[in-house]
Amino acid sequence: MGRAFVYVILGGGVAAGYAALEFVKKGVSHGELCIISEEPVAPYERPALSKGFLLPEAPARLPSFHTCVGANEEKLTPKWYKEHGIELVLGTRVKSADVRRKTLLTATGETISYKILIVATGARALKLEEFGVNVSDAENVCYLRDLADANRLVDVMQSCTGGNAVVIGGGYVGMECAASLVINKINVTMVFPEAHCMARLFTPKIAKYYEDYYTAKGVNFIKGTVLSSFDFDSNGKVTAVNLRDGRKLLVDMVVVGIGIRPNTSLFEGQLTMEKGGIKVNGKLQSSNSSVCAIGDVAAFPVKVSGEIRRLEHVDSARKSAKHAVSAIMDPGKTEEFDYLPFFYSRVFTLSWQFYGDNLGEVIYYGDFSGGTFGAYWVNQGHLVGSFLEGGTKDEYQAIAKATRLRPAVEDLAELEIQGLGFAVAI
Ligand code: FAD
Ligand code: NDP
Repeated sequence: MGRAFVYVILGGGVAAGYAALEFVKKGVSHGELCIISEEPVAPYERPALSKGFLLPEAPARLPSFHTCVGANEEKLTPKWYKEHGIELVLGTRVKSADVRRKTLLTATGETISYKILIVATGARALKLEEFGVNVSDAENVCYLRDLADANRLVDVMQSCTGGNAVVIGGGYVGMECAASLVINKINVTMVFPEAHCMARLFTPKIAKYYEDYYTAKGVNFIKGTVLSSFDFDSNGKVTAVNLRDGRKLLVDMVVVGIGIRPNTSLFEGQLTMEKGGIKVNGKLQSSNSSVCAIGDVAAFPVKVSGEIRRLEHVDSARKSAKHAVSAIMDPGKTEEFDYLPFFYSRVFTLSWQFYGDNLGEVIYYGDFSGGTFGAYWVNQGHLVGSFLEGGTKDEYQAIAKATRLRPAVEDLAELEIQGLGFAVAI
């Protein structure tokens, strides 16, 4: 049993949705494109799962956040795919790939062949078991990667109102879920190994602002330690978290956000890997010219810094998808991908954006006591990174533009005096 398509997108997440829209814009013919996804729903804006989806009142639910509403583009419902002759094969895991034969084998036993494959398999959440902690499928321990996880988190949250949650991990999932738990009237303790939250991006001074804000909302921080084990009741529910420093925290629920691993296993030994992902060139093409990779799974050259990087953020998923399809459908007119790294988050009423690289000396500006503030990173005499909390649309655009241009900065004291005005004036 088998089907053949000109283009196959493997994975049905953010990158797949944006790739589909670009295929249609570039005039793909009916019957040429197929998307295969393990998830049972059409591509959606994954960032909604840790934000609007978790709100206690008027929460976001599908179909409201199918791609590509996050970039103010069309909402691609299952009907849209049908109308454009795109085959959506949902709820179907691909269990092996043969890039020499150009075939994929699904868990249902179907062979799907392609002329060009776009790998958009994203990533999976790291599990505590991988760090030697036994969870044994406890029903009140939640991860957050897909819709099924989000539905489960909502159910557990609703059964714990007024209770205690421990959030393990001080990264994006930890910070966003902690805020959502507080909004749902749950007492939160965050536990992470680093000295401060968001350690890979935030400086201690920036982190302190958010930690103080969370503390004022009632969040308790336990830093510099990790959990060592759980206590369970007779139903297999976790009742306490035991930390390596000897403390025991009584809990009603646990949320775990300890990082991800890109889903590359189908292609190990077949495609060149780098930075834990599939290595691609400036056209998002892998070491096999019939296979592209986009989104979280792709390690691509970032022109502004001259480095190969794998980014785990929605903007790079959207833009790498669009660029890959453009390179496939319009090769003559498509330049090398020129991407400026962009990360953001929204928690409570706070909202920040970051562009570029967090390398070199840090210059702060603005009001760290509750207003608009930010930071510049200056490396080897050039502005390479910019962070801004509480900016306007125009101000965010200004820091993005300034960072892309990498202007020379001769006088750090002068940059500090100019603050946000430096970027706005460029
Ligand atoms: P994904 O969106 O993960 O999609 C991968 C798809 O491939 C999934 O549908 C998966 O089921 C499917 N798949 C994998 N393997 C197979 C297989 N073998 N067979 C069939 N299908 C398969 N980024 C931001 O910049 N801002 C945010 O605010 C933000 N919030 C986030 C909130 C949450 C809760 C999460 C989990 C992530 C968030 N991100 C955010 C990150 C962002 O969502 C990802 O960078 C983005 O989804 C990556 O897109 P992708 O298409 O590469 O992977
Ligand atoms: P992150 O990589 O952001 O953070 C993981 C955190 O967990 C780090 O602080 C990490 O520390 C810590 N950690 C690692 N191992 C342990 C352990 N054994 N015990 C306790 N803490 C540990 O991953 P997340 O899980 O938060 O997010 C998953 C993915 O979702 C990421 O790709 C992220 O980009 C994406 N996402 C993005 C959002 C956004 O952009 N706004 C929002 C939500 C998710 P260390 O640094 O030392 O490893």
